[in-house]
Amino acid sequence: MERHAARRFGEHNSHAKLASVLSEDEETAGLCASCRHVRRVESGRGSVFWLCRRAQDDPDYARYPPIPVRQCAGWEVSEG
Ligand code: SF4
Repeated sequence: MERHAARRFGEHNSHAKLASVLSEDEETAGLCASCRHVRRVESGRGSVFWLCRRAQDDPDYARYPPIPVRQCAGWEVSEG
């Protein structure tokens, strides 16, 4: 019973941590954080970069858009 409760508590904590990271990302990157065209790149030193993959084929998009992005015609919801 206690082990079960501890596991549930651990799951809750990891979900809370994930939710916290997601909201930090949304604050930092704006729309890019939830866009299917972004690739979140984390350097070995812990810096995070937001790479717009639309920029590969479309010059209207910056490879590394200035963040936070608040409006973007290319935004599409990420399914992951
Ligand atoms: S399409 Fe727009 S919202 Fe999506 S990653 Fe590129 S700049 Fe960010």
